[in-house]
Amino acid sequence: MEESRKTELLAGLRLLTRKKDVLENAPMCRYTSLGLGGPAEVLCEVFSAERLVKILRLARRLDVPVLVIGNGTNLLVRDGGLPGLTLRLGEGFSVVEPPVLRADGRYTFAAQAGATLVKVSNAAAEAALTGLEFAAGIPGTVGGGVVMNAGAYGGEMKDVVRSVTCTTLLGEIRRYTCEEMHFSYRHSRLNEPDGETEIVLDVTFALAAGDGDAIRAAMREYAARRREKQPLTLPSCGSTFKRPPGQFAGTLIEQCGLKGLRVGGVSVSTLHAGFLVNDGNGTAADYLTLMAEVQRIVLEKTGVALEPEVRVVGEELGAA
Ligand SMILES: Cc1cc2nc3c(=O)[nH]c(=O)nc-3n(C[C@H](O)[C@H](O)[C@H](O)COP(=O)(O)OP(=O)(O)OC[C@H]3O[C@@H](n4cnc5c(N)ncnc54)[C@H](O)[C@@H]3O)c2cc1C
Repeated sequence: MEESRKTELLAGLRLLTRKKDVLENAPMCRYTSLGLGGPAEVLCEVFSAERLVKILRLARRLDVPVLVIGNGTNLLVRDGGLPGLTLRLGEGFSVVEPPVLRADGRYTFAAQAGATLVKVSNAAAEAALTGLEFAAGIPGTVGGGVVMNAGAYGGEMKDVVRSVTCTTLLGEIRRYTCEEMHFSYRHSRLNEPDGETEIVLDVTFALAAGDGDAIRAAMREYAARRREKQPLTLPSCGSTFKRPPGQFAGTLIEQCGLKGLRVGGVSVSTLHAGFLVNDGNGTAADYLTLMAEVQRIVLEKTGVALEPEVRVVGEELGAA
């Protein structure tokens, strides 16, 4: 964006938030689990829904494009970076309310979009509420989890979400029931390609009373399985590709002999072929080339077209 608009945006943001929460040319490798990609032109950490709406109003007045991210654990930022304003719902947007017992015997509790799935699943376990055990090892936020209908070990957000509150970029607040979220495998109304941009503010979960020890044991078991099967010490975005119907992307990639296949600083994990990891100074261009190569070979050898799960955002290097 041109300098005068950027200056006005920065000045406005500094009035609406803490100085340290606004960064220019923020390296997105620090805000994504893949640890690569170009800078965000302006990155702002948001700490309340009220401030968020004011910031959106400012961005709209200045006609600045807005992208909202959570923990950046399913995000591939291209090397040219993110134009406009990137809003991060993190620490300050992470209140988890105490559970409320409802007339139907189930419990509900609300969490702000920036709360991590680890935090909400631990809160549920603490209150001996069952349903969120699957989410304990997913490194994203509640907002990102709902957008992606994140899931693991037979559970997904769809099973536990009661309602979702969002704001449009115009500041109009909308509340969706679970059915209205149109959840399906790694899909929700919020990641439909031509859908209107909406930002998740908070989510209410519905859970059943359970046995605290059993809940914690399940969480420990899932964590152990992850440690054994996933390359958790290397930067990744989890599974790069969605599971094709009736198959596993990792198994198909392994069967094609692609474990260890490398482009620059990124490679197909030798531990879990569904993970493409950044094990050097990988770039987004390396990553996208490796993804395309894996897709090409898997299609050629098995006839299966792998669809990316990772969300690719931002501009090519030199595009601006
Ligand atoms: C080691 C590892 C293991 C993983 N395991 C799993 C797994 O088992 N199951 C699984 O499903 N995923 C898994 N993931 C992927 C990832 O953690 C999930 O997709 C998670 O839900 C992403 O949340 P996030 O906050 O990081 O979202 P981000 O990556 O920041 O964003 C993802 C998308 O959501 C949008 N978004 C984020 N927050 C909001 C908001 N508040 N409002 C509107 N849009 C928003 C972003 O614009 C983007 O399009 C794994 C990732 C890693 C690195």
